Amino acid sequence: MSRDVVPDERDGALRYYDQADLWGDDELSAMERERVAETLAAIPDGVATVLDVGCGDGRLTNRLVARHERVVGVDIAAEALRHVAAETHVAPVTALPFEDRAFELVLCTEVLEHLDDEQLACALRELSRVASRFVLVSVPFEESLANAEGRCPDCRATFHVFRHHQRFDAARLAQLVPGFSLARWSTFGPAFLPPRPLDVWIQHRLLGSWHHSAAAVCPRCGHRGTEPSRRRALARGVRATRRLPPGRRKRQWLLALYARA
Ligand SMILES: [Zn+2]
Repeated sequence: MSRDVVPDERDGALRYYDQADLWGDDELSAMERERVAETLAAIPDGVATVLDVGCGDGRLTNRLVARHERVVGVDIAAEALRHVAAETHVAPVTALPFEDRAFELVLCTEVLEHLDDEQLACALRELSRVASRFVLVSVPFEESLANAEGRCPDCRATFHVFRHHQRFDAARLAQLVPGFSLARWSTFGPAFLPPRPLDVWIQHRLLGSWHHSAAAVCPRCGHRGTEPSRRRALARGVRATRRLPPGRRKRQWLLALYARA
C-alpha cells in the first residue's frame, strides 16, 4: 500500500471510513453478493487493466485480480485496504495518483453518492481523465435520502447515516461522465416500494423516529452512533400504508457503463 496523497478530512469522513468494523466481512450478505456479481458481469470482454476507485475492502477488487492483467485499488480508508489482495493506493477519488488514460476500465461503485456537489464534479473529471476506454459506475437508484437520516444523541444534528449526499435517477445518468457517453445501464438488487416523503416526515417529525446506525459519525460533533429508533411498531404501520394503493416497486441499485466518446 502506498500513501500518495493525504486525503482531506471533511466532516469526520475518515473517522467514519477508517472504522475497522466496517471492513473485511468474509460473509457478504445476499444483497452484497448480488451487487458484486452484477458488477462483474457488466465489465466488457477484453479489458486488461482495471482501476477500482473507492474499492473499500476489495470485495470487488479481489475478484478482479484473476480476470485482468493489472488491477489496482484506491480508497481513502487505509483500514479498508488491508483486506485488498492487489496493488493499492490511499487517495481520494478527487485526486487520483495516475497518468491520463492509465487504465482501460475505471470502476467506481457505491462512491459517488457519498460526495458533495463540488467533490462529485471533481471526481467525475478524475474518472474520465484516468480511463482510456470505459467507466463503470454503480450508485443507489432513486434513493430517498431523507429516509436514511439519523439524529445525533449529543448535538441533535440530523444526517444521512451512510453519508450519502447525492441522489441518482436515469435522467441524471445520461450526462454524468465528461467525455464519455452512456453505453448501457440497468437497475438491479431487491425491488421495494420506495418511501413517500409524507411517510418519512411523519416518522421523523411526529414519531421522532430516525434511522439508527451504531457506526454513523455525526458530521457536526463527531459523536459515534445515532439515536435508537423510537415507536418502531407505529413507524412500521406508517410504512405498511405504502402498499395502499399499490405503487411502483423500484430496484436498489443503478449500474451504468460509459464508453469514451
Ligand atoms: Zn452531533
